[in-house]
Amino acid sequence: MSLVLSGRELAAAIRSETAARAAELTAAGRTPTLAVVTATADEASAWYVRSLTRAAAKVGIACDVTGLGPASPSRPGSPDAPVASTVASTVESIRVELIALGENPLVHGIVLQTPLPGGARLAELAGLIDPAKDVDGANPASLGRLMTGLPAFAPATAEAVLALLDRYEVTLSGRRAVVVGRSAVVGKPVAQLLLARDATVTVCHSRTVDLAAVTSTAEVLVVAAGRAGLVGRRFVAGGAVVVDVGTNATADGGLAGDVDPAVAEVAGALSPVPGGVGPVTTALLLRHVVSAASSP
Ligand code: NAP
Repeated sequence: MSLVLSGRELAAAIRSETAARAAELTAAGRTPTLAVVTATADEASAWYVRSLTRAAAKVGIACDVTGLGPASPSRPGSPDAPVASTVASTVESIRVELIALGENPLVHGIVLQTPLPGGARLAELAGLIDPAKDVDGANPASLGRLMTGLPAFAPATAEAVLALLDRYEVTLSGRRAVVVGRSAVVGKPVAQLLLARDATVTVCHSRTVDLAAVTSTAEVLVVAAGRAGLVGRRFVAGGAVVVDVGTNATADGGLAGDVDPAVAEVAGALSPVPGGVGPVTTALLLRHVVSAASSP
């Protein structure tokens, strides 16, 4: 059986360091504050925001949630999609809110929660988040800075993947890394961070021909596709280090990763879902808020 890349202990260590810094800031009259903007009633997103609010409270970070827009999850063309005029007015409210939060000195971190109402463009709206408060690295400017090696907040999930690999002292320099997924929140920034650590990186996506042929070349494999069980045993080389970012709701109310747990029989190491990347992501996001609050 492979080594379990648990994120729980690492997350606890980050949380305790964050709580200490948050207490210092609060004592100095600067309570670290995170603002979360939501614009749909998506259930998974609401669950995440509730758990983020609780996690923030535990480390002494205030978390203000602003709900905007139509109270229904929406996909373009679906029967429950809000009409175009409602979407336009929601998008305008999001714009106004993000700009106001950027100007508010009492707010140190801003997260624009997805999904957005159908038709709203995340990159365009996230571009309105003040980069100094962009604690989840959503502003395209933050991604650009990351890509060019300038200081910026990386998307917390991408940073969590690297933090987990570092926690288990996985060598990256010169290793063959494969990332499955190319979203701006996970796949691309993970690939960028691996590249910055001198790994030789290949990025796969839904049009990749013979995915298993590519992933089985990886010494380090990061999977962020959002497809439960996509990566099975034949996708993984013996001894590879596998990080599973996927979080897929199961019929029984649980959570499944993108990697079939049977991969543990061939991999050298595998991160569990839940309990791997997830807890580290939340802990790092909150650490970013404290860092933003510490800046002059
Ligand atoms: P996303 O925006 O839907 O992107 C998924 C990516 O996977 C896309 O690039 C897509 O390719 C690729 N893909 C989909 N099916 C594929 C297939 N069969 N073969 C190869 N590639 C495939 O999702 P995301 O936001 O990046 O999230 C990915 C997963 O991570 C989700 O399960 C999400 O819930 C999870 N997540 C976890 C955390 C955490 O903290 N643990 C945080 C964020 C996200 P195309 O580009 O070609 O469509």
